[in-house]
Amino acid sequence: MSAETYDVGVVGAGPAGLAAAVTAAEAGLSVVLIDASSQPGGQYWRHADEDQVPDAGHAGHHDWKTFERLRAGLYADRDAGRTTYLPNTQVWLIDRPATGFNLRLNATHAAAPEPGAAVVHAKRLILCPGGYDRQLPIPGWDLPGVMAAGGVQALLKGSGTLAGRRAVVAGTGPFLLPVATGLAQAGAGVVGICEAGTLTNWLRHVGSAVRVPSKGVEGAQYAALLARYRIRYRMRTVITEIHGEARAEAVTVARLGVDGQLVGGSSRRLEVDLVALGWGFTPSLELPLMVGVATRKDVDGSLVAVTDEAQRTDVDGVYLAGEATGVGGAVMAVAEGRLAALTAAHDAGRPASQATLARLQKDISRYRNFAKAMHAAHPVPADWTQWLTPDTTVCRCEEVPYQQIRDAHAELGASDPRTLKMLARPGMGWCQGRVCGYAVADITASLCGRTTAAEDLRSLGKRTLAAPASLAELAALDLTGPAPNQQTEELQTEG
Ligand SMILES: Cc1cc2nc3c(=O)[nH]c(=O)nc-3n(C[C@H](O)[C@H](O)[C@H](O)COP(=O)(O)OP(=O)(O)OC[C@H]3O[C@@H](n4cnc5c(N)ncnc54)[C@H](O)[C@@H]3O)c2cc1C
Repeated sequence: MSAETYDVGVVGAGPAGLAAAVTAAEAGLSVVLIDASSQPGGQYWRHADEDQVPDAGHAGHHDWKTFERLRAGLYADRDAGRTTYLPNTQVWLIDRPATGFNLRLNATHAAAPEPGAAVVHAKRLILCPGGYDRQLPIPGWDLPGVMAAGGVQALLKGSGTLAGRRAVVAGTGPFLLPVATGLAQAGAGVVGICEAGTLTNWLRHVGSAVRVPSKGVEGAQYAALLARYRIRYRMRTVITEIHGEARAEAVTVARLGVDGQLVGGSSRRLEVDLVALGWGFTPSLELPLMVGVATRKDVDGSLVAVTDEAQRTDVDGVYLAGEATGVGGAVMAVAEGRLAALTAAHDAGRPASQATLARLQKDISRYRNFAKAMHAAHPVPADWTQWLTPDTTVCRCEEVPYQQIRDAHAELGASDPRTLKMLARPGMGWCQGRVCGYAVADITASLCGRTTAAEDLRSLGKRTLAAPASLAELAALDLTGPAPNQQTEELQTEG
């Protein structure tokens, strides 16, 4: 097979990947930038179609000038032939020939143009796949009208679409603020934000918070918007049930005591037609796990990929930046993307200025400390399984209720997520545990009376393919020779 070869392949054109691609091209490397979205920006800078609305995204976006600079850099690199930019394209498999990496590509959706090549070859990889909303099951969360907070925001940012008229936004973390205020600014009634944590948790982390003053400014802006739109911010409050026949019509909310248990008699009902749920984010680790990068459990309880201080992983030639290294926000993702590219350029024999490297590392460490404080202030409630009922659906793809998981543990002795998955089928369906994986790992640990371990998360985070591929694409793989990596070995076994 002969595929076009690049010095570096960057996956993801969010804040991290954009910064990485532009910096790598500046350093003189030939770059291929592959992104599943139709235009650059990732989740943070998601905006309306640039062809239809040329100044799309201007309003309501933070750090928009940074994005404009990076986008202009990318388009200039593309036009000068320094970078090949492949939007609407997903990497569904990475395998390792004798040197470098083969990235297998297909179009993101049926209407998207097929990528120019089905496979590209890169000497080095910078993986910036971002993350997605972390979800916990709640009775009724599978009703229409219940959405991930990120999905609600994506509709607003991408096309100005309101997912409902009367909303409640619930879960934990600062991300609930832009979602609730964005809905209100777009004309929805927002009956409240239910935040499981409490702002007093921040008091223990004031030192880390004041070192990133821009976040304080953002916080003040959101506080003003909450006041302006009269959005009630209920702390230590969770949704324990979502009601409705054909779609969400109301929620029951209840208070959490300082011991993390539901406070008896605190329940009340709110009438809504939209429930936006978000428990922070969880990194997309399909590609890092596919190439064998080491992982660990982060302070927020998510599985993240491990890098050194220069963004190198333990796999030779693979660098990581952005949410995959730990959820820490867009500004940190940009700094990590730049650093990853400079490190890759250094390893390719194009050293960068030591002062620039040191400044980036210092910034990243400051942002990382802020992120740690944020995670500590907004933890997922330790006893969240207390609001599950026996028939609460945990895995929506395979329609597995909580009781089925309990039975697999109590009657069949399953005590790890992998065995539970095989016996009760959570995580076996279409999304392969992307939605329920975190919850199933937590449920397993709680049934076994222990805390969730990295291994619990890892076994549900590993997927043979990173994105759907057709049977024709699978059939075209040469699986007859010695397996070049674990991924193709698994395909050989499963095939
Ligand atoms: C839904 C959502 C909404 C958010 N909104 C906000 C907000 O309003 N404010 C805020 O401060 N933070 C927000 N965040 C967090 C913020 O987006 C991140 O901190 C920041 O975008 C991280 O940048 P990144 O480059 O690591 O990842 P992302 O911005 O997520 O970019 C990753 C890119 O990689 C692409 N990708 C992933 N896998 C593949 C693959 N296999 N093949 C090809 N492409 C791939 C994705 O399509 C995406 O474009 C949001 C996060 C999410 C998930």
